[in-house]
Amino acid sequence: MPDKARKEILKPLDIEEISPGAFDGEWFGSGEPLGVISPIDGKPIATVTQASEEDYERVAAAAYDAFLEWRAIPAPKRGEIVRLIGNALREKKELLGKLVTLEMGKILAEGEGEVQEMIDVCDFAVGLSRQLYGLTLKSERPDHRMMEQWHPLGPIGVISAFNFPVAVWAWNFAVAAVCGDATIWKPSSKVPLTAIASTKIAAEVLKENGVPGAVASLVIGRGKDVGERLINDPRVRLVSFTGSTVMGKRVGEVVGARLGKTILELGGNNAVIVSDRCNITNALQTVLFGAVGTAGQRCTSTRRVIIQEKAFEEFVGKLVGTYQQVKIGNPLDDGVLVGPVIDTACVEAYFAAIEACKKEGGELLYGGAAYADAPFDSGTYVVPTIMEAENRYDIVQRETFAPILYVMPYSTIEEAVALHNGVPQGLSSAIFTDDVYEAEYFVSDRGSDCGIANVNIGTSGAEIGGAFGGEKETGGGRESGSDSWKQYMFRQTNTISWAKEIHLAQGIKFEL
Ligand code: NAD
Repeated sequence: MPDKARKEILKPLDIEEISPGAFDGEWFGSGEPLGVISPIDGKPIATVTQASEEDYERVAAAAYDAFLEWRAIPAPKRGEIVRLIGNALREKKELLGKLVTLEMGKILAEGEGEVQEMIDVCDFAVGLSRQLYGLTLKSERPDHRMMEQWHPLGPIGVISAFNFPVAVWAWNFAVAAVCGDATIWKPSSKVPLTAIASTKIAAEVLKENGVPGAVASLVIGRGKDVGERLINDPRVRLVSFTGSTVMGKRVGEVVGARLGKTILELGGNNAVIVSDRCNITNALQTVLFGAVGTAGQRCTSTRRVIIQEKAFEEFVGKLVGTYQQVKIGNPLDDGVLVGPVIDTACVEAYFAAIEACKKEGGELLYGGAAYADAPFDSGTYVVPTIMEAENRYDIVQRETFAPILYVMPYSTIEEAVALHNGVPQGLSSAIFTDDVYEAEYFVSDRGSDCGIANVNIGTSGAEIGGAFGGEKETGGGRESGSDSWKQYMFRQTNTISWAKEIHLAQGIKFEL
């Protein structure tokens, strides 16, 4: 990729060649340097001086102090500041979207789409800032009043995965901010520059409004030191973790042991059921987007397609046809639908999964190779792959974070749902059908066991207004829309007596 493109993206976003990786209102960092590589061409973009464990302490202390100040500001005023951050993101949407592409490798439309998600969640949070409703309750005692209020929780930790380098922080930050919490963000070390750029955008607005910058704190550092500090820190009342199930289990254990709260957003193994009674064209287009979009590196990527046996051959044949037309290449270029995967470790996982599937009896129908016409010699371009497989295969039971799709037939809808649910994960799910029974069965209490279940819509590309997350090994967390905000606050039940005498609950008499 031309150096010109790098300059055109980095400079206007104020990313220096060597950037400090900790922010508590000031930028600093005394840890080891971290070279940032673009998956597009395998070449360095910039260097970040990571936060050391001592730097983490400084950031966490500042975030705690910032929280004490921030929580005292009325919620609608906090909302106004989030509105201004949303506007600042609007101004930088194109640039920040390009940086997402440069650093993570998703195509430009998806990079910009991610920034749009940040803007959307800011808008959502602004409205929420006037709707942090509690309840009033009827007391059993005369002249008493009961109510529930929601109070700010404290500084919260946000640990994010590489594949949504900015949106996941925004989901947490914007909602937490209107709730009165400061946020300490530890992004993936694979994508630190987008975190620095996003924090700079937010920090400028905070500064202009006389708010401590540590409301949007940042620590870039290794999971095993800075990440561990954060999850073990009793000041951090809630850790919102997005990442693999393996790491999520570790976070759940550590935070659980200190009785902190977690939101765990972990791996998925998402399937689409394709009925013989559906609009096949729509199903094909949607499965394609779900399976090859973001080069198969979304938590909601379609990994399995369960197809009614009468439609199996036709659907798979057409799917192979659509895969053949997908343009793979430089994600900064127009018309490209699939860019590189994040790194060569991901390529190794891709080949290992294909081999494992073949060993278990699976058949390679398309792909299974490095992309021969890759625009750069980075070793990160692969051909999206389709394999016929059985649901019970060990490899099909696991999430491989690469563009591999397993197809399998079913006979009855009940069998399809059993196959669908027969994996350890439970994030996103979909059915394509025009049959009311099948559609309703899928979303009923006997249907999909996932946190997200769609009809005639794919598994990936959720809107921010709904609660986002999944069940089983996906962790059970919900963030972003609906009433997810309640997790960023604590509930307080108040009983207020205006009676002239004492009344104990349950009519107990306790008199001298
Ligand atoms: P990962 O688990 O390798 O890393 C996630 C984060 O955990 C990174 O910031 C990493 O630095 C941090 N980390 C590592 N060790 C840590 C420790 N000991 N303590 C604290 N933090 C630590 O995941 P990844 O490869 O970046 O992302 C891909 C995974 O994330 C996939 O499994 C994907 O499904 C999942 N994901 C889930 C969602 C969701 O909403 N459910 C969204 C995006 C990604």
